[in-house]
Amino acid sequence: MPLPSQNDILRALGGVVIPDTNDNIVQAGMVSAISVRDGEGGSEPQIQLVIEVDPAMGEGIEVIRQNALAQVKSATGIGNVSVIMTAHKGAPSAASSKKAAAQPANPPELPQGVKTIIAVASAKGGVGKSTTAVNLALALYASGLSVGIVDADVHGPSIPRLMGLRESMEQNEAGLLIPHESMGIAAMSIGLLVPEEAPVIWRGPMIHSALKQMLHQVDWGQRDVLVLDMPPGTGDVPLSIAQHVPLTGAVIVSTPQDLALQDVRKGVAMFEKLSVPLMGMIENMSAFECPHCHGMTPIFGHGGARADAERMGIPFLGHIPLAMALRESSDAGAPVVHADPEGSYAQLYKAMATTLRGKMGLI
Ligand code: ADP
Repeated sequence: MPLPSQNDILRALGGVVIPDTNDNIVQAGMVSAISVRDGEGGSEPQIQLVIEVDPAMGEGIEVIRQNALAQVKSATGIGNVSVIMTAHKGAPSAASSKKAAAQPANPPELPQGVKTIIAVASAKGGVGKSTTAVNLALALYASGLSVGIVDADVHGPSIPRLMGLRESMEQNEAGLLIPHESMGIAAMSIGLLVPEEAPVIWRGPMIHSALKQMLHQVDWGQRDVLVLDMPPGTGDVPLSIAQHVPLTGAVIVSTPQDLALQDVRKGVAMFEKLSVPLMGMIENMSAFECPHCHGMTPIFGHGGARADAERMGIPFLGHIPLAMALRESSDAGAPVVHADPEGSYAQLYKAMATTLRGKMGLI
């Protein structure tokens, strides 16, 4: 039997009316993601839905959830349907439209149980931002902190691959998502909620609400620090994330060749404008390390990063060489700080983590 299309599912969801209103959840723009996955090994296909609701809807939220489940199951004949409800203040409801005018815009709050959040950012993709984020998170954990990692790189989520995470997500009795635990770190990724290759309807508010869900609807327990893997660049998505997440600070990862470019300055300016403290610059893929003789070749001219960072008024946290072992280990889901904790690369990340701890006030 062919898989249902997104339109089939939207049509079914059009039958879900918002309690106390005449609107349905599709008209009201509350359906923020639909994913349909073929069952592996002959198992049943799976449908995942994300619906944005206003917490002020109270019991209406459960009515919507049940109704959405029933409509989609009966329209598609697929039993394996999960519905994730995400809190979104702007979603329409009879209750919220009365209250809206009286509610001040809330400044972003830290998720429950989380002390600090540090963004790992880069001017462009492919510079090793995610590899650095994971290894820094592992180094912070090795230093005795309780650590979580949030993959906010909505266009290319790589934390599941880097940390060898399973694909499915579970919820606790309170409806909070349970983060994956890998190598001592609690991990959440947009890639776990919506598979990379799945057809997805992304709308502007979806990115915002998925991020909110990953931060605030997750059972984080107690975490000294969440490391947030940002999408690259300074476009609308990273800007919106930097605005809506209460960042304690940001770290910028760059390669020697893009350090000289204006892009890095733009990234720095974005955080400065939002008053997010820049806690450091990391030069990744600095000199090439020969896998045979371990000699270092500064292909892109190495050494200027510290001066460039200092010129921009950012502390320089250190260099990571361009090394075959680093690529192999992170692509195999065994990041080097975990796989070879006493090795020379792990020591580089650990030294950076120690400096960061000081700057984050996590001493
Ligand atoms: P980004 O998050 O900036 O897109 P990734 O962390 O996904 O970048 O890294 C891109 C590729 O570069 C991956 O294959 C990764 O293993 C590799 N890589 C990252 N840092 C290094 C390094 N220092 N040496 C060698 N390969 C690296």
